[in-house]
Amino acid sequence: MTQRTLVLIKPDAVRRGLVGNVLSRFEAKGLTIVAMEHRHIDAAQAEAHYAEHVERDFYPPLRTFVTSGPLVALVLEGDEAIEVVRLVNGATDGRKAAPGTIRGDLSLSNRENLVHGSDSPESAEREIALWFPSLD
Ligand code: GDP
Ligand code: MG
Repeated sequence: MTQRTLVLIKPDAVRRGLVGNVLSRFEAKGLTIVAMEHRHIDAAQAEAHYAEHVERDFYPPLRTFVTSGPLVALVLEGDEAIEVVRLVNGATDGRKAAPGTIRGDLSLSNRENLVHGSDSPESAEREIALWFPSLD
């Protein structure tokens, strides 16, 4: 089933010059970029995106991190894209993510883990509407 999912290439990836590396993995997998934008978000956008996490202990440093510099937001489309992107991204903690995944190959952090991918069809719909409200 063809799906769309919201991906963020987070500020650590931009700072480290890994945008091309990350994008090429998604493209090589067969996913199609249907929207993409370079943005530097404020606290309000961080809170809207991470609404499910705002009460968590890790949210204040997460907000500081995701607003710390520009990121690249994109929508990827493909067969089972939501789950496929989560698999390509790897486990949340880069120290535990499997080699071969983006986080497993390129991150050694539980917070600065390079990428975000929507975790369900409901999240994907909400996040795509939040980041790309005019996308058809
Ligand atoms: P994801 O869906 O794999 O990105 O993980 P979550 O939705 O659980 O968490 C959102 C983001 O918050 C993660 O990607 C990390 O950047 C950060 N994060 C999550 N859990 C922790 C944690 O326990 N400690 C820290 N420092 N950051 C966390
Ligand atoms: Mg998540």
